[in-house]
Amino acid sequence: MPTWGGLPGRKASTMAWYQDQTRLSRIANAVFDEEHGPGEKVPHSGIYRCKGCNKEIAANVSDPFPPQNHHQHSISQGSVRWQLLVWTQY
Ligand SMILES: [Zn+2]
Repeated sequence: MPTWGGLPGRKASTMAWYQDQTRLSRIANAVFDEEHGPGEKVPHSGIYRCKGCNKEIAANVSDPFPPQNHHQHSISQGSVRWQLLVWTQY
């Protein structure tokens, strides 16, 4: 399995990590339910998770989401759909 972030043993399929929970606030908002396809315009800056494979990306508002060939899915994973995981200010 691939590792990334310089942390041995971290697999690409694990959830996002953070150290200090006092630096994140939980809110309920419909923007977290939206799904966005490859190349669509990023509506809010933040960290997004692919619903098919759990890969995470950082994306800036108004930039396009990564293109279709960013990563590959099996048939069972379906299409690439990005969902907001952490909404950042900028
Ligand atoms: Zn994916």
